[in-house]
Amino acid sequence: MHETGLCEAIVAAAVRRAAGRRVTGLRVRIGGHPVDPDVVAQGIQLAATGTVAADTTVDLVLEPMTVACHECGRSGPVDDHVALVACPGCGGVDIEVTGSDDVVLESITVASAGRAAV
Ligand SMILES: [Zn+2]
Repeated sequence: MHETGLCEAIVAAAVRRAAGRRVTGLRVRIGGHPVDPDVVAQGIQLAATGTVAADTTVDLVLEPMTVACHECGRSGPVDDHVALVACPGCGGVDIEVTGSDDVVLESITVASAGRAAV
């Protein structure tokens, strides 16, 4: 599974950005991947164990993939794999998948200054 490495990468990015401060919240944007948000959130919290982000909450923002059909003009978000190979509207296969498939650490929340480690 990719998720473990992905979660570790997100935590590593958050820890780097926190620069020694304690991380209390992570906001992660997931584009395209039909992932189970609970799995990702748990993976992130697991990967954060022992870091400054150990007690963080995880806020996931899911962005669905979008499919545009060249045959009937239908365009819209999809949430299952079938729609990625055939248009849900007309069944045509001349479709274009758009939208980001990135997983991005969007923002972090850190504990207020004053308690930050030097
Ligand atoms: Zn169509």
